Amino acid sequence: MNIHEYQGKEILRSYGVAVPNGRVAFTVEEAVEAAKELGSEICVVKAQIHAGGRGKAGGVKVAKSLDEVRTYASELLGKVLVTHQTGPEGKEVKRLLIEEGCDIKKEYYIGLVVDRATSRVVLMGSEEGGTEIEEVAAKTPEKIFKEYIDPAVGLQAFQARRMAFNINIPKELVNQAVKFMMGLYQVFVEKDCSIAEINPLVITGDGKVMALDAKLNFDSNALYRHKELLEYRDLDEEDPKEIEASKYDLNYIALDGNIGCMVNGAGLAMATMDIIKYYGGEPANFLDVGGGATAEKVTEAFKIILSDPKVKGIFVNIFGGIMKCDVIATGIVEATKQVGLELPLVVRLEGTNVELGKKILEESGLNITAAESMADGAQKIVELVG
Ligand code: ADP
Ligand code: MG
Repeated sequence: MNIHEYQGKEILRSYGVAVPNGRVAFTVEEAVEAAKELGSEICVVKAQIHAGGRGKAGGVKVAKSLDEVRTYASELLGKVLVTHQTGPEGKEVKRLLIEEGCDIKKEYYIGLVVDRATSRVVLMGSEEGGTEIEEVAAKTPEKIFKEYIDPAVGLQAFQARRMAFNINIPKELVNQAVKFMMGLYQVFVEKDCSIAEINPLVITGDGKVMALDAKLNFDSNALYRHKELLEYRDLDEEDPKEIEASKYDLNYIALDGNIGCMVNGAGLAMATMDIIKYYGGEPANFLDVGGGATAEKVTEAFKIILSDPKVKGIFVNIFGGIMKCDVIATGIVEATKQVGLELPLVVRLEGTNVELGKKILEESGLNITAAESMADGAQKIVELVG
């Protein structure tokens, strides 16, 4: 789960990790009011969307007066911001962070992520803050430093100190930087983050170390033990199809292609996407209906696929083990009755109750192309969507 910058900063602040003072605003009036309350000579008006790259895209504005706060707030609210992370369709700005202007002396990068190769949390740092870390990694990888953290003892002060020296934090600020990193690590572990990225971490003219940006992502599998985080969820920022899918406990992820996929099991779903691509097609989604899906769940899954206007054909690829083929078939028939189906549909069924499943589909009168195998099905649907 992703949250907004201002929410991330709220969490950091509660752990004693230094961030500038700021207030969230949903309207222009609230923005001006927030700036008044902050009382700082310079305010920064920051678009709050679940994507980075806002600075370059004009989503971060420095205001030198309340009038400028008003101007920038009205410009940004309702604007569709296109950054390198939003995709070409962009994201509409519905919230702003009004923050104290910071006298930046230098920008750094600090991030915590889970490294799958070592199964550890890794602290990454660089002197090249502010810019995209991916770019630094590609062009000057030697400028990124890493500390792998032993889960038994956590981030050690000596590691944080070594990081501070490696990224050239001025000597007199090393202790502050160490405290910052230790605090960030505590947030990461206690809140079950999957990413905690501070870009930029800054040192200021008056000798402070603080987070000017905050990107926190949480492991959805751990949310059950963080009820306090759920209130941070902003459904406006999520794909409505994915929200609908999560209600029915379906593992659905929207993609850019035009072939809708309905599959059971994450492994088979991945393989199905691969084989569609292999035959020259592009999947419109990842969808694992799970093992114990009911006909109702399959119906909802089918409706979600069909609600995507990009979808030009559907490939159902089911291996019935725990999941029974007749249940899938009933779900498909029910869904097409409810929403209609004009698109080509290729079905490959195998496993438990396969004969019964095929019979249900045949007798439904639906225009279904049966496939003998996964490869056969993939080729057929790619052909049909042209
Ligand atoms: P993004 O990563 O989405 O571009 P950031 O929060 O990193 O957004 O802001 C982009 C840049 O704007 C920062 O690198 C920094 O130079 C500047 N900036 C952000 N917040 C402030 C602030 N409170 N005071 C001064 N400058 C800021
Ligand atoms: Mg940033």
